[in-house]
Amino acid sequence: MTTESGSAVPYGDVRTLFSEAEISTRVDEIARDISAQSTADILVVAILKGSFVFTADLIRALHRAGVRPQIDFMQLASYGTGTESQGQVEIIRDLTDPVEGRDVLIVDDILDSGRTLAFAREQLLYGGARRVQLCVLLNKQARRVQEVEADFVGFECPDEFVVGYGLDHAHFYRELPYIGVLDNPTP
Ligand code: 5GP
Ligand code: MG
Repeated sequence: MTTESGSAVPYGDVRTLFSEAEISTRVDEIARDISAQSTADILVVAILKGSFVFTADLIRALHRAGVRPQIDFMQLASYGTGTESQGQVEIIRDLTDPVEGRDVLIVDDILDSGRTLAFAREQLLYGGARRVQLCVLLNKQARRVQEVEADFVGFECPDEFVVGYGLDHAHFYRELPYIGVLDNPTP
């Protein structure tokens, strides 16, 4: 497939892993779990770019569960190529508001090696957050390098490269309403 500008679109076969309906049900369940543990004054920090779809659904589910969160964004990149994240984590875009004294819920798409969320948590605690909890839609336990455990997890994820619902490959696939496994991703 090619775009109008002629660039190649790496659309291969995507095997559905979690359907739109399954995700929707699970997001409501997570929101109820969060509401049972959260204070009135919660700050949701979405890690861009991958978590924007999940966060958008989660905050509305939180509203239905009676939580009235504030939202901020942090864009992080862990350098490496292709489908493997590596080493250093860098801040591409920082929060706009101070987190001192706040109860923060970090939201990300997937917990893989743990480097991204270990770094994000450290940053927020360094900034004086009172409590930092982690919420991820997917947990790839098999791939953990840093010791990080999420407080709220949507689904356990097999050790395969997944796309959709915000997760990309080469900046494509984020718009898929479901999550699937991309077989044979190009490097
Ligand atoms: P970590 O720092 O935990 O290794 O990596 C977290 C980031 O790596 C995620 O936020 C996500 O951007 C990316 N990542 C890890 N596994 C996958 C995957 O299976 N699919 C996609 N699209 N991104 C992934
Ligand atoms: Mg990400």
